[in-house]
Amino acid sequence: MIPTMHSATARLKASVRDIPDFPQPGIIFKDITPILQDGQLFRLAITIFSERYQRKNIEQIVAIDARGFLFASALAYVLGIGLSLVRKKGKLPYKTVQTAYDLEYGSNTVEMHIDSIKKGQRVLIVDDVLATGGTMKAAMDLVGQLGGEVVEVAFFAEIEFLQGREKLGKVPVFSAMKF
Ligand code: AMP
Repeated sequence: MIPTMHSATARLKASVRDIPDFPQPGIIFKDITPILQDGQLFRLAITIFSERYQRKNIEQIVAIDARGFLFASALAYVLGIGLSLVRKKGKLPYKTVQTAYDLEYGSNTVEMHIDSIKKGQRVLIVDDVLATGGTMKAAMDLVGQLGGEVVEVAFFAEIEFLQGREKLGKVPVFSAMKF
């Protein structure tokens, strides 16, 4: 762990912007774009992840559509390992596995390419925000369908009162910060 990790996290946390009633009334949206826009802050965020994962023998990173892509791809680059995508239905061009999950209103289907994970591969799944946990649970289901082993799931930020962690079962859950 780098010595300044605590203050780095505090700086990052102070830079997350709350947007009330977006995308619908009652939701406080955690806007991470101020971190992306600042080269130092973005690098700090990726350093927190890379410090944690560089010695965990992760073999593949799975990135969740769409803001998860931003953190996951930078982390995969730093660690020098491959990136596999979880995308909303209809975006991936090759053969896919799919899973559907419930949202607050309605449902959503996500997909992965059938060859994007090798059987037994040690996988880290990355997303920006853990809210109710439904999206991550669906991603874990897809990795499971492909025979991957989810070593840990990682988020830039966790919204604790929504208790998404509890939906994820026994898999270790890391969040760089909690709200
Ligand atoms: P959930 O499936 O409820 O855990 O929602 C997680 C997904 O929705 C993540 O991919 C987030 O990008 C997004 N999300 C849900 N709630 C919020 C929020 N309050 N602020 C920012 N992103 C959110």
